[in-house]
Amino acid sequence: MTGRQRLAVLGATGSIGVSTLDVVARHPERFEVVALTGHRRLDVLEAQCRRHRPRYAVVGAEADAKLLGARLAGLGTEVLAGQAALDEVAALDEVDTVMAAIVGAAGLSPTLAAVRAGKKVLLANKEALVMAGAVFMAEVSRRGTPLLPIDSEHNAVFQSLPRGFDGNLAGCGVRKILLTASGGPFRATPIEALARVTPEQACAHPNWVMGRKISVDSATMMNKGLEVIEARWLFNAMPDQIDVVIHPESVIHSLVQYVDGSVLAQLGNPDMRTPIAHALAYPERIEAGVAPLDLFEIGRLNFERPDLKRFPCLSLAFQALRAGGNAPAVLNAANEVAVQAFLEGRLAYPDIARVIAAALDEVPCVSAGTLEAVLAADSAGRAAAQHALARAGR
Ligand code: NDP
Ligand code: MG
Repeated sequence: MTGRQRLAVLGATGSIGVSTLDVVARHPERFEVVALTGHRRLDVLEAQCRRHRPRYAVVGAEADAKLLGARLAGLGTEVLAGQAALDEVAALDEVDTVMAAIVGAAGLSPTLAAVRAGKKVLLANKEALVMAGAVFMAEVSRRGTPLLPIDSEHNAVFQSLPRGFDGNLAGCGVRKILLTASGGPFRATPIEALARVTPEQACAHPNWVMGRKISVDSATMMNKGLEVIEARWLFNAMPDQIDVVIHPESVIHSLVQYVDGSVLAQLGNPDMRTPIAHALAYPERIEAGVAPLDLFEIGRLNFERPDLKRFPCLSLAFQALRAGGNAPAVLNAANEVAVQAFLEGRLAYPDIARVIAAALDEVPCVSAGTLEAVLAADSAGRAAAQHALARAGR
């Protein structure tokens, strides 16, 4: 690529967005920020705009756009609002690369817009791929969109597969993809005590600092479930080709097992700036601000089989993956509703899985080969979760 890489960062105000801009700021000669989007955190977005001087900024509400526009007067940043504006900045001619880091289903439309516009897409927003895997990947191959995984596990798998991997795992001699999971904050909590855990406890992840939704997903291991589905699409893997291994230290970010007995892995300190820098600079390597891994300090690495009684959400995700069609979209939607209710103190922690299971039972499994079908499944999953919530909520 000649000249600087021109970026749109969707979800700039979040955990991944902030880490992305940290890496970008280390390499002003390589990157130029053209668009930044946030939703509600106007102060963070304002500071980011002053620092990076994008051509466009996007927020959720019209009134907030007016407010931020006034605060940024004279800076040369045009402030827009709403879904259409997100889709627009994701597909701008003057953008080469889109960091897709909006959380949840809200990220689907702009991420797809970036894919359709043939941008290099750095995918953090796993929910988009979980909901709409078939539609999403069909667009990726139709447009030849470069798609680079940001999720640390998938980035590790990507790094452990042969360069130029063409979607044929068996053809490359791959036996299995092994996704590692930390087990989250409740890996060793007595199961009876889980009924009383609070959102603050669930969000206190032992190794990673992340947004609140993915932190709860990590505690329930739904995050790993979503990642299994994400891996299915990114690497064209069958459910039986994906295993989950609990590895509490989060040093091995994932592994690929080959038929000759070789296992390749990617290791590093748990810091999202590593996969972000990898994807931003790919195929080159750049400084990310991450401390070198000190194996002497770490001393030993541990591995456990996931306990599905403790982590029923992981089983639900495998169930949805095997069912196929609209089931992953229903799973994702019900999870978003349940996690939100838990974070707001309206649902007990063990009921997150119950709400999702009830939604999967209620919504009939049909195919989801079009965007309309995906969006219908998302709505049906949310409605079914609301019904279950009304029964289980407090
Ligand atoms: P955060 O909650 O920290 O950030 C979410 C971002 O999305 C914020 O910029 C937020 O804006 C924006 N946003 C929220 N709702 C909407 C909406 N309705 N419309 C438009 N924008 C919205 O999340 P994370 O950064 O932790 O996660 C982002 C994505 O990356 C998720 O899909 C997550 O699964 C994935 N991911 C995250 C990892 C991590 O380490 N954090 C690791 C791997 C994947 P605002 O804050 O201004 O309201
Ligand atoms: Mg991950």
